[in-house]
Amino acid sequence: MFVHQRQGSLEVICGPMFSGKSEELIRRIKRAIIAKQKVQVFKPALDDRYDASAIASHSQRKHEAIPVKNTEELLRHLDPEAQVVALDEAQFLDEGLIPIIEELANRGVRVIAGGLDQDSNGEPFGIMPILLAKAEYVTKLQAICMVCGALAGRTQRMVHTGGQVLVGAAEAYEARCRHCHETPHATGPRMLDGE
Ligand SMILES: [Zn+2]
Repeated sequence: MFVHQRQGSLEVICGPMFSGKSEELIRRIKRAIIAKQKVQVFKPALDDRYDASAIASHSQRKHEAIPVKNTEELLRHLDPEAQVVALDEAQFLDEGLIPIIEELANRGVRVIAGGLDQDSNGEPFGIMPILLAKAEYVTKLQAICMVCGALAGRTQRMVHTGGQVLVGAAEAYEARCRHCHETPHATGPRMLDGE
């Protein structure tokens, strides 16, 4: 009996900096291109490290990407024929993107979103927690803690300038495990009564 495989889903690739997210995203993009699928890649326009119109991993592998300032701009560039839509640094994209991703996946598009699941305070980052909840497939990568060598799920900011977004060179950050990760305003364990 022939079982029709329905296409369309959301995949999320997350983890701290230096965990290989962009490399994994690029790997999936290249595989789809080899299979002659129509692939579109977007990235937030604010992230201009390495290359303004490409996504680049720290190991210098890269792939062309369309930089977009917001969801409206993404919609203007969206190819209705695209079979795969990839988003890099999705934590910087706005909430307006969520219904768009849903619509794309519902109509058969494979959406792949890569991004930081936690900010440098260890808190959920931007739209990532929502994407993680809505995804069919989640890949949570780990880096290696640059202090103790354990597996690292967090990003330590080495320069304290305030704000959640600091787009910068790799030297501003380190991958850290839970135990070696420090935040400037750590509150300690949260009490059950909330105070
Ligand atoms: Zn550690």
